[in-house]
Amino acid sequence: MSKRGSWGEGELYEALCLLMIGACLWIIGAQFHAFESLNAFVARHGVSDLFMLVALMGLAMFGASVRKSLLLRDALRERDAAAREAEAIARHDVLTGLANRRLFLEAVKAQRAGAGPVPSHAVLLLDLDRFKPVNDIYGHAAGNAVLCAVAERLRRLIPAGGVAARLGGDEFAVLVPLESGSDGLVRLAQAMIAAIGEPVLWCGNALKVGGTVGIALVETEMADADAVLHAADLAMYQGKKDGRGTYRVFKSAMDLELRARAQLESELRDAIQRGEIEPFYQPVVALPEKTLIGVEVLARWRHPVRGLLTPGHFIGIAEETGMIADLCYRLLRQACLDARDWPSHLLLAVNISPQQFQDRWLCERILSILTETGFPPSRLEVEITESALVQDLEAARTTLTSLQNLGVRIALDDFGTGYSSLYHLRELKFDKLKIDRSYVDTITMSDERAKLVDAIIKLSASLGLVTTAEGIETDASVDWLSGQGCDYGQGYLFGAPMPRAELTALLAAPGAHGMSAPMKEVA
Ligand code: C2E
Ligand code: CA
Ligand code: CA
Repeated sequence: MSKRGSWGEGELYEALCLLMIGACLWIIGAQFHAFESLNAFVARHGVSDLFMLVALMGLAMFGASVRKSLLLRDALRERDAAAREAEAIARHDVLTGLANRRLFLEAVKAQRAGAGPVPSHAVLLLDLDRFKPVNDIYGHAAGNAVLCAVAERLRRLIPAGGVAARLGGDEFAVLVPLESGSDGLVRLAQAMIAAIGEPVLWCGNALKVGGTVGIALVETEMADADAVLHAADLAMYQGKKDGRGTYRVFKSAMDLELRARAQLESELRDAIQRGEIEPFYQPVVALPEKTLIGVEVLARWRHPVRGLLTPGHFIGIAEETGMIADLCYRLLRQACLDARDWPSHLLLAVNISPQQFQDRWLCERILSILTETGFPPSRLEVEITESALVQDLEAARTTLTSLQNLGVRIALDDFGTGYSSLYHLRELKFDKLKIDRSYVDTITMSDERAKLVDAIIKLSASLGLVTTAEGIETDASVDWLSGQGCDYGQGYLFGAPMPRAELTALLAAPGAHGMSAPMKEVA
């Protein structure tokens, strides 16, 4: 291949052709006496034929060189234009025209290199909230319109000397000078969140997304530009955790916390696969006799290093990472197998997380586990909290009805902690209501609380539901609740959540129906 700018094979061939053409012209000219005057001149001055041939070939060579350099100049121009275009594409986001991650990192790197002891620039990383539903519902064209609108709004917001970039997907970032100090940064973050929250008009629809912002200062202590972006990312992630539509400033503690969380997340993934999440069982008794009528399944993780972990340590992570369904179905399967050895009148209550409730195959999945383990649906109770119902009431109604059609009972858990309890009680059909522990705790302490719990029990009865009071720890509470007509009770007074072997032993003991299990939870 010939290299532009030097004499390669192609060019040599071209030059030889031109030389040959020159020589041929000379022969033809000489044959047809076209060079009479030239010959006379030659005769007069005694220039040899050989010299003339060389002169003409030289002329041809000169022509070839001029042509070659003109071609070369055009090629160089074309190459420079293509290089400029490629460079622009490689450093900008094609859709929005903003800088891309590469260019943004270069800009951060430049600022970091020039930063003194006091930071002069900051990165604000913006991640859109609710972008996925817009894309899913209205399609990619709508999604693109939102991204372009966000880019435009960011361009308008950043101060002179700032750089706005789309880092990928629905993630944007701006690099801004710290001219008006931290107040200025906060104002900018707030303005960004407000601007992103404004609807985007697209084909007659008002598309609405939100944004969460993470802020990190460009400091020399940070290892490199990537570290600055990572810090802003951690702060943004914290903002998402704290409720989205907000901003957070990076603190080094976040890094440690998030590393620990990531570690726990990966351990949890393995633990679920290895079956280290185990069902514990807490007795539920009928009041006032205190006879055992069933158990609630509560998850416990036998962590090889940290010991027995309660759900507070891992259910949230399992929900956020989408592992909750796998975890709960495995627990349900295990619980159904365990319960086959227990008296057949005992009910099994399982907790279903709001996220699982969105699964339209929930009913089929539960039925398949019941069929596989041979556990009758009439002995199963599903506990759901109100947060499972708020997303889509109609879908919730369908799921509840399908489960009830199977013969499974539905309990509304943690009653009194939701924000529209009465509304859901009126709109949906439940079988049981569980009064939250926070109410039961205080009935014997405050008259107000007692009146409230009394009202809940009456309300439940008037709707044809049975009531369980959670978190009973004292005999005084049992007496009071029984007196008000509460049907069932659950709490440390009757037994803490316990492993299968312990419950089996308890059931085998004489007088097992009059519960008096240990107060403390033991592994
Ligand atoms: P929950 O469904 O309200 O479960 C009752 C919680 O109260 C349990 O906490 C239980 O140990 C505790 N408890 C019971 N009696 C007493 C008492 O007398 N005093 C006090 N102070 N506490 C009592 P636990 O096991 O830590 O579970 C916490 C929550 O985690 C559960 O609240 C439930 O919402 C969730 N959870 C547990 N297991 C699962 C599961 O398998 N799947 C899902 N989605 N959530 C689960
Ligand atoms: Ca529960
Ligand atoms: Ca509860």
